[in-house]
Amino acid sequence: MAEAEWHRAYIGLGSNQQHPREQVIQALDALDRLPLTRLAGASRLYASAPVGPQDQPDFVNAVAELATRLSPLALLDQLQALEQRHGRRRLRHWGPRTLDLDLLLYDEAVIESPRLRVPHPEMAHRGFVLLPLAELAPTLRLPDGRCIAPLAEAMGSDDLRPLLP
Ligand code: AMP
Repeated sequence: MAEAEWHRAYIGLGSNQQHPREQVIQALDALDRLPLTRLAGASRLYASAPVGPQDQPDFVNAVAELATRLSPLALLDQLQALEQRHGRRRLRHWGPRTLDLDLLLYDEAVIESPRLRVPHPEMAHRGFVLLPLAELAPTLRLPDGRCIAPLAEAMGSDDLRPLLP
């Protein structure tokens, strides 16, 4: 049987619990060790104000680029298992979380299934996704042809600040 092809996937990472910076750094390392997958790049880490309830700590966010031979759903399974290993609890919608991993883009795929929507439906509205993504891949386009860089620029960076290494 022919080997599966390599695909390019972008992952949004976020944490605001239990040493968020370390959670994100460890998660980047763990992404590099997923089966049939390697970490091809990562943005800087950013601090962002929470979406939704404001009575919770700021988030640390980053975006990672993966080269993977996993299918989109197999990759989602791996991301959800990694969230669980980081002790993720779903306490409330848009509430605090130890580690949140979103599959933002998978090649030029458009996926609308009960478990998985790609591009991630919220990504085009979120500065903490678009700005790190534009830093990592400035010429990247969404499957509908929109370029990430101007979307990020239009978003502004008021609620986002890069963390020092
Ligand atoms: P959240 O609480 O925001 O992490 O949402 C998790 C749920 O969103 C899970 O049930 C996933 O199956 C679903 N989901 C749909 N599309 C995506 C995506 N692109 N990335 C991650 N989770 C997704």
